[in-house]
Amino acid sequence: MKRIGILGATGSIGIQTLEIVRDHREDIQVTALAAGSNAALLERQIREFRPRLAALYDEKAAKDLKERVSDLNVRVSCKMDGLLEIASMEETDALVTAVVGMIGVVPTLTAIQNGKDILLANKETLVTAGHLLMPLAKEKGVSVLPVDSEHSAIFQCLNGEKRGQVKKILLTASGGPFRGKKREELAGVRAEDALKHPNWSMGRKITIDSATLVNKGLEMMEARWLFDVEPERIQIVVQPQSVIHSMVEYVDGSVIAQLGLPDMKLPIQYALFYPDRLPMKLPELDFYELSQITFEKPDMETFYGLKLAFDAMRAGGSMPTVYNAANERAVALFLAHKISFLQIAEIIERCMQAHKTVENPNVETILETESWTYDTIRREIMPASLSGE
Ligand code: NAD
Ligand code: MG
Repeated sequence: MKRIGILGATGSIGIQTLEIVRDHREDIQVTALAAGSNAALLERQIREFRPRLAALYDEKAAKDLKERVSDLNVRVSCKMDGLLEIASMEETDALVTAVVGMIGVVPTLTAIQNGKDILLANKETLVTAGHLLMPLAKEKGVSVLPVDSEHSAIFQCLNGEKRGQVKKILLTASGGPFRGKKREELAGVRAEDALKHPNWSMGRKITIDSATLVNKGLEMMEARWLFDVEPERIQIVVQPQSVIHSMVEYVDGSVIAQLGLPDMKLPIQYALFYPDRLPMKLPELDFYELSQITFEKPDMETFYGLKLAFDAMRAGGSMPTVYNAANERAVALFLAHKISFLQIAEIIERCMQAHKTVENPNVETILETESWTYDTIRREIMPASLSGE
């Protein structure tokens, strides 16, 4: 019996994780569930999965939840304390990190410190704190299993091979809803257009990241830390059908790929039961129907946010935090209709230009850099459009 906690239980990844657990109640026990503010959904999840601990980041929502589940034997907490309590509780073997954004950094490090395996969806944590997280995981002897589909693919392509014989990682990208468009055509796109992803159904922030290709930039940094590869050995390949989830090229020229239908349940289930593969209630990949798989080079002029990711990754230190935090804020502003689509990359670039990289930042410096980035956007980059906030 594996005992898991889920941070971000009410989101796209959290819900799908619970759907898998529902089919395997004899193998997996849910010990804790946390989310941002959705008390109604978390209540339903608590009633079904009966965790011992629950948390909502939002204090008022947590109060509401407490009343809703007062008939059950579950402790409800809030804010960062709630997330940390879940990250360190004794009854948990593994933590599924499915929160969105840098809010995951401290809880994930705390969970590792407490010997929990990590099933990692929350890529923003690896992007900003990968240099702390991976060595700590090694020291504590815990595994960090990827949930992100590309990284699950790479992980599978590395199975049984020698790391020293890897030549490069080929990270595939769908190209998002605006693939093939030029900059001028993207000037007027609205959040509603960007939220229509051709192949994947995901949370709002990552869907916008997929439209700007910033998601691929974040995934590149995620891969860099997860698989301990130098930035120069990661190549991005656009594969619009999203059937090849990523590939690994070896020194002899052999390329190993992992293929499957685009469904996050596959990588989530793989991480939950690794190293076992379990039957899955999914349609089969029909190659006759698919008929072709095509490849393209990413257009980094139009999708400038991806180019900036290469710059941030090469600069290292605190720069990926600036890249990530600026993007988090810019995406929120875009979703609130306060900036245009193209301004997302512009804001990231201006923050990066204004930042002086700190080498090997510790957690405090990472969090300070995050605040510095938000302040810089508020004070220097966007004062006019934010005056209403
Ligand atoms: P989502 O927006 O659907 O869900 C986010 C979850 O985090 C929700 O449960 C929300 O309540 C919770 N949350 C937000 N702020 C919180 C806070 N302050 N404290 C506690 N909980 C908080 O997002 P998602 O699409 O499920 O993505 C989650 C993570 O997984 C992201 O890092 C994303 O990049 C990654 N990921 C998602 C997919 C996907 O298919 N959705 C694929 C690969 C990777
Ligand atoms: Mg992905």
